Amino acid sequence: MADLGIDVVLLSVGADLPWLTGYTAMPLERLTMLVLPVDAPATLVVPHLEAPRVEPVGDLFTIRPWDETDDPVAAVASLVGAAARVAVSDRTWAAFVLRLQEAMPEARWTPASAVTGPLRAVKDPDEVDALARASAAADRVAAQLLAGGIALIGRREAEVSREIADRLRAEGHQAVNFAIVAAGPNSASPHHDAGERVIGPGEAVVCDFGGTLDGYCSDITRTVFTGSPPPAFVEVYEVVQDAQAAGVRAAQAGASAEDVDGASRARIAAAGYGEFFIHRTGHGIGREEHEDPYLVSGNRTLLAPGHAFSIEPGIYLPGQFGVRIEDIVVVGGDGTPRPLNQADHDLAVVEA
Ligand code: ZN
Ligand code: ZN
Ligand code: ZN
Repeated sequence: MADLGIDVVLLSVGADLPWLTGYTAMPLERLTMLVLPVDAPATLVVPHLEAPRVEPVGDLFTIRPWDETDDPVAAVASLVGAAARVAVSDRTWAAFVLRLQEAMPEARWTPASAVTGPLRAVKDPDEVDALARASAAADRVAAQLLAGGIALIGRREAEVSREIADRLRAEGHQAVNFAIVAAGPNSASPHHDAGERVIGPGEAVVCDFGGTLDGYCSDITRTVFTGSPPPAFVEVYEVVQDAQAAGVRAAQAGASAEDVDGASRARIAAAGYGEFFIHRTGHGIGREEHEDPYLVSGNRTLLAPGHAFSIEPGIYLPGQFGVRIEDIVVVGGDGTPRPLNQADHDLAVVEA
C-alpha cells in the first residue's frame, strides 16, 4: 500500500477478504467491509446479525457491528477519515461504491487488486497444498472420464455435465464452479454451455470442469473421442498435446507470463493452426478460478516460486471440432514447473 501511495484498503464481498482474514462476507444488500488503513489498526464493519460468524484472528482487526437502522456507509467513511487514496475490492457492489464515493467526495479510488492481486498470485505452502488437493480430486473425475466410466454416447451434454458435477462433489469438492461438456461441432466453442444436444459416436467431447475444495479451486480439461478418431482429429490432438507440454516446460521461475503463452502458441502456429487458438494460454488460480497472473501476450510479469496457473491451449475448427487440454501448474520452490494434475494426456477413445 505504501509503495502504491494507497492510504486505505476497503474489502467487501469477493476473495480478498477471506484470503486476508478467513472471513467470507455474505453477498447481501447489508454491507460488510474491512477498513484497512496503511498505518492504523483494521476494523471489520459487519451487520450485527452476522457478527457471530466472524472468528477473530488475534488482533488482526476489531469487529464493528452495525444495527439495522445504522448507516454502515457512514461508519466506513468515518473510519476512512481524511484518507486521500482509497483502494476498494474489485467485487464490491456498485451500489455500495457509489454511496461510499458520495460520502467521501475528496477521495481518489483504485481497485484493491492493485494491492492484493500480486500478493494473492504467489501461493504459500499451505495454499499450494490446498490447490494440490483440489486438483487431485478433479483428476480422479478426469480419470473416470478417460477410462470410459462416464457414459457419453446417447446422452445429452447437460446430463453428462450434471454427472461430472456430482462426481466432483463425491470426490470432495464443496462447490462445483462449472462443468463444460461440448460435443461434436459444439466442441469448437471454448465456453460452450452444456445443452440438449445428444452426444453421438465419432465425436470430439471437450470436458472442462472444476470446483472449490477447502477454499481453493480446481480446473481441468480433457478432450476425448467417442469411437475411433479420424486422422484429422488425431493430428490436431497431437498438436495441442505438444503445445500444452511446451507451455508447462516454459513455466520456469524467471520466465515471463507471456513467454509461457508464446511457447504454447508457437507450437500451434508452426502446425498451421495459429488462427484457431482463440484465447490466452492460461490464468492464475487460487481462491478464484480466474485470478493473476494471466498467461497472455503483453503480460511481462516474471514467474516466481508459488505462482499457480492453468496451461490450457486449444484449437477450435468452426463447424467441425475443438480440442483443449488443461492442467494446473505451480512454480515450485526450486523454480521448476510442478503440474498439479496427473490425469493422462494421451488421446482417450471412449466407446460407451
Ligand atoms: Zn475457461
Ligand atoms: Zn478449465
Ligand atoms: Zn481454466
